[in-house]
Amino acid sequence: MAHHIPFFDYSREYEMIRNDITKAVDDVCRSGQLILGKQVKAFEEEFAAFTGAKFAVGLNSGTDAISLALMAFDIGHDDEVVTVANTAVATVSAIRAVGAIPRFVDVDPETLLLDVNKVAPAITGKTKAIVPVHLYGNSVDITALKAAVGSKNIAIIEDCAHAHGSKQSTKDLGTLGDIGCFSFYPTKTIGAYGDAGICITDNAELYSKLKKLRMYGFDGQPIANIEGRNSRLDELHAAILRVKLKAAPEFLKRRRDICTAYSQGIKNSHLKLIKTTAATQVLTNHLFVVRTSDRDGLMKHLEKHGIGFGTHYRYPIHLMPAYQFLGYKPDTLPATETNCNQVLSLPLFPTMTDTEVQHVIKTLNDFVPMKAATK
Ligand SMILES: *Cc1c(COP(=O)(O)O)cnc(C)c1O
Repeated sequence: MAHHIPFFDYSREYEMIRNDITKAVDDVCRSGQLILGKQVKAFEEEFAAFTGAKFAVGLNSGTDAISLALMAFDIGHDDEVVTVANTAVATVSAIRAVGAIPRFVDVDPETLLLDVNKVAPAITGKTKAIVPVHLYGNSVDITALKAAVGSKNIAIIEDCAHAHGSKQSTKDLGTLGDIGCFSFYPTKTIGAYGDAGICITDNAELYSKLKKLRMYGFDGQPIANIEGRNSRLDELHAAILRVKLKAAPEFLKRRRDICTAYSQGIKNSHLKLIKTTAATQVLTNHLFVVRTSDRDGLMKHLEKHGIGFGTHYRYPIHLMPAYQFLGYKPDTLPATETNCNQVLSLPLFPTMTDTEVQHVIKTLNDFVPMKAATK
């Protein structure tokens, strides 16, 4: 019997909210206002309220959110930015887009998050920012990170592309550092129907600078006060995202329930789960990841049983051809490199049925690696 469970699917969700989405699109198209109008403004206010941040600035992607956050601190050519190599290439390309140099630190082998203990030795006189990535929705301990940075003038720019709906202590991820950068790429925990992103901050000065940066450096008048670019969130995407945000509490809860079922149901000594950090108070997984030393075997097994999967992330960025000029050699980030060969992301989207979730769990529990587990 052919089960097919995709890795990600938005079409069922679309059917549930279709009336609201089509109405939102129609309203924008009939409004006579397609750029920076009332939808973007309303979505910014609603997303700020959702995260508990004071301000939000809608942008055209999560990549730009990181770039503009760096620009808001005047970070650019030859400045150094500490981050990790097991992230989306977007994190690194955003740093490079402003001319800064990424300095990679290794991750904790159990959580796969930035190893906060490795940050202090990576800081040089040129370090201007740290971009912790809240991978899979799990929280990098920002309080510990701040302690590692001490009184140095270094910005903390949180990559929250996986972190919608996760909290450290009582605060939403993205509100602990200086600026939180979110993506609404369609597969993200809250997704648009195209590219979109946002920066959140509590700092009024940074807020006003981010608004200029997304619009050619303009401040009211069409006169560039600072060098900016075009990175506006569209009215259409904002209107769609308002519908998605309204539906988010229910969908996020379902996502957490699926992950609880996975955590409790997956009982296979050949599979390791990702450890949740102590800093994480509420975990809303963007991805549910298992690790195995026979990932090729697990991929074949899942394919045979009609189960989609992803690998986040399969190729460590410091070893990619484009970034060879940074000078990193194999074995310089051992935990990062080992995990790239072991991680596999399971199907996870809120409209998965219980039957599908149980089929994934059973299939995983039936998995026997072909090669003996090393390590
Ligand atoms: C998706 C993603 C981004 C970038 O977002 P885009 O909207 O695709 O530009 C940045 N960092 C991480 C970790 C991501 O997963």
